[in-house]
Amino acid sequence: MSKIIDIIVKDIRFPTSLDNLGSDSVHVDCDYSAAYVEIFSDDKDLKGIGLTFTIGKGNDLCVACIKHFKPLFLNKNITEIEKNINSLWRSCTNHSQLRWIGPEKGVIQLSVAALFNGFWDLISKYHRKPLWKYIVDLNTEDLLNKLSFTYIDDVITKEEAFNIIEGKKNNIQIATQSIIKNGFPCYTTAAGWLGYSDEKMINLTKKYLSEGWTHFKMKVGQDIDRDIHRCKLVREIIGKDNLLMIDANQAWSVKESIENINKLKEFDLYFVEEPTNPDDILGFKKIKNSVGGVKLATGEMCQNRIVFKQFLENKSLDFCQIDSCRLASLNEILPILLMSSKLNIPVIAHAGGVGLCEYVQHLNIINQLIITNNTTYLSEYAESCSEHLTNPSIIKNGHYVTPMNSGYSAIIKKDSVKKFQFPNGDYWKGK
Ligand SMILES: [Mg+2]
Repeated sequence: MSKIIDIIVKDIRFPTSLDNLGSDSVHVDCDYSAAYVEIFSDDKDLKGIGLTFTIGKGNDLCVACIKHFKPLFLNKNITEIEKNINSLWRSCTNHSQLRWIGPEKGVIQLSVAALFNGFWDLISKYHRKPLWKYIVDLNTEDLLNKLSFTYIDDVITKEEAFNIIEGKKNNIQIATQSIIKNGFPCYTTAAGWLGYSDEKMINLTKKYLSEGWTHFKMKVGQDIDRDIHRCKLVREIIGKDNLLMIDANQAWSVKESIENINKLKEFDLYFVEEPTNPDDILGFKKIKNSVGGVKLATGEMCQNRIVFKQFLENKSLDFCQIDSCRLASLNEILPILLMSSKLNIPVIAHAGGVGLCEYVQHLNIINQLIITNNTTYLSEYAESCSEHLTNPSIIKNGHYVTPMNSGYSAIIKKDSVKKFQFPNGDYWKGK
């Protein structure tokens, strides 16, 4: 029986700010980074890899936090971790001292995400299945016992969750064949970063259009006149039949959101993402009520299942954008998907960064196969840093190709780790 013998955490930072990659209205100099966890077992062929995504400074805080959790897991058997994953997760999120600097938010939640993404990877590798397959094959009761319903049972009970999953399992074989054959649809953000010139944005939009993409998202929020200008340019290129979304990355107040969305809605927006502060559940509702039917999306900075519960129940969002590394891994992501299913709210997962695309491709499949009854299937894709991964997600005709290898991971190449480890890797040394 394999047991955990070591957990090593690394601070890896890619200097993506040099190309304005990921630039938006508030994050103007992103160095895409990963707090990168390697979980070693006494079986040399069995290693779990997990990460959380940050944009540079602060990655070291996540690395330090993850190290505090290490003693809870050393010398435990993998089967013991699999069986008790809910209580182990709770011992991290509700750690008697560390919870003071959370609870269940910010650095703590990002760090638990990295560690438990690594454990879910290890467990699904142990069973020699891709994570999505491992999860959908679990007995429903076993699966629910691995998830956290604390603080959300006023909106969804385990019994309701059980009935949702069992209902979906009636059709599981046909649905699985279909997703293996067709993949999962996604949209691209990669043409519309705010730091890109008009020329670069136009060329990339044309390129992605020719590659078969039909959904395009662009960044707004620094200057409304420039936003109008850029929306006009992109809408002209993609025509009326393709979808356009905009993302303000929290730049506006509630009042500014209402004013600006009303100015931009002539461009037929599929949704507006993060117009204002990600915690402002009531503010989002005010915006929704004042923009003439324009739909709102949010979630990439929604800190935990409890805030999501309020957004969903209050109908303050139209599209639920879960994030695989801000939320504390599957333990709380699947309960959020279950709440969304009960309330019939579509999920459009956030991705991009480092590793997020590799993670959400599994979560999308799990949602489609055993959780949601909503028929809007869509997820984000933004190619970034995939050149540093040994197993990047694969896209064909605007669809994620269903991953069939064991595990749940984004594995960073050895050479990239060596070069970009902070602060002593070859690239950063002396900078
Ligand atoms: Mg966004």
